Amino acid sequence: MEAFRADFPILHQEANGHPLVYFDNAATTQKPKAVLNALLHYYEHDNANVHRGLHLLSNRATEAFERARAKVASYIGAASPEEIIFTRGTTEAINLVAQAWGGAFLKPGDVILLTEMEHHSNLVPWQQAAAKTGATLKFIPLTGSGTLDMEALDGLLTPEVKLLAFTHISNFLGTVNPAQELCTRARAVGAVTLVDAAQSAGHLELDVRALGCDFLAFSGHKMCAPTGIGVLYGRAEILDKTPPWQGGGEMILSVRYESCTYKPAPARFEAGTPNIAGAVGLGAAIDYINGIGRPRIQAHDEALALRAFEGITELPGYRVLGPQSPRGGLVSFVHDSIHPHDLTSFCDQKGLALRGGHHCNQPLMKKLGFPSTSRASFYLYNTPGEVDRMLGILREADRFFA
Ligand code: PMP
Repeated sequence: MEAFRADFPILHQEANGHPLVYFDNAATTQKPKAVLNALLHYYEHDNANVHRGLHLLSNRATEAFERARAKVASYIGAASPEEIIFTRGTTEAINLVAQAWGGAFLKPGDVILLTEMEHHSNLVPWQQAAAKTGATLKFIPLTGSGTLDMEALDGLLTPEVKLLAFTHISNFLGTVNPAQELCTRARAVGAVTLVDAAQSAGHLELDVRALGCDFLAFSGHKMCAPTGIGVLYGRAEILDKTPPWQGGGEMILSVRYESCTYKPAPARFEAGTPNIAGAVGLGAAIDYINGIGRPRIQAHDEALALRAFEGITELPGYRVLGPQSPRGGLVSFVHDSIHPHDLTSFCDQKGLALRGGHHCNQPLMKKLGFPSTSRASFYLYNTPGEVDRMLGILREADRFFA
């Protein structure tokens, strides 16, 4: 994997006088030259608005944009590119479902089932949908080790549940949820399912048809693509029934002064000029990731997470949260007496980029009794040597703050 480091120019710099170690990949990943070059090429050669132009550049831009949609479709095993809606990211994708699908289909007495480990992006939009429609929120609890309590699911999955939305991999605990089983069990009671794949799409193979989900959301910037581009996958049958959310250009068939008719999906959900360059960048990111292979990336990230989990657990004063295995490529940890913000800043002074905070999981953080944690999250260009450097810095912090 170390050969791939050369593809990421940003990694080759010093941070606070030390070689940079970038372990904040769950927040956003770095971008390889192939993606940067695709953006440059698009703006230098093809830039124009898509779909409505009758000129060469517009046709080229449209082809590039739609090629990216087809790449996304095959990347996640969708039945067709029409099931792929471009959004700003995971957050916007979930808001689309909560507002458009939720607004049309949720009613008083219905239950929106979530888990206790959801990112605020997969919680707040459902709080808003519940307030608007009269539906009720319920939560699948966690076991002591930070996995979903699948026994509690039996009692929770009643016919009133209209939607089950859950994260595939927790960005806080690293827990990998049994996505296929959750979708199968939800479907058995007639519930629609949404998978938040923000932390899995760039790390492991996804097949929406094998998972059996209705919706799946992810962000390009967490998988080598630029910020501002993301994806909502929606099963064709369900997208066909879902009304639009935003109105504007591109999503209409015809408009009169008083009313209009809408295009089918995906155009119905993409009002206004889309992030064309972002989609082109996402297509290039998919090519780059496919060139390495997701099974290799997954094995690599998980090996680094295990090395970090075992190493931090052995250090005096430290504790890692969440299950040891299965685990995505990240570890959240706390020290007995060092505040996570102090610890994260200490690491930054040594060139090590961690994330310190509530990781957009405030309710769970509160329930577990932590103000915040430090988190190290790994990607394909990180090395075992970097993990060992982190362990050395954490040992130093234990002595420094003693
Ligand atoms: N869900 C999860 C599990 C995440 O980790 C994140 C990003 N931290 C999001 C949703 C939101 O992603 P974005 O900010 O790219 O919309």
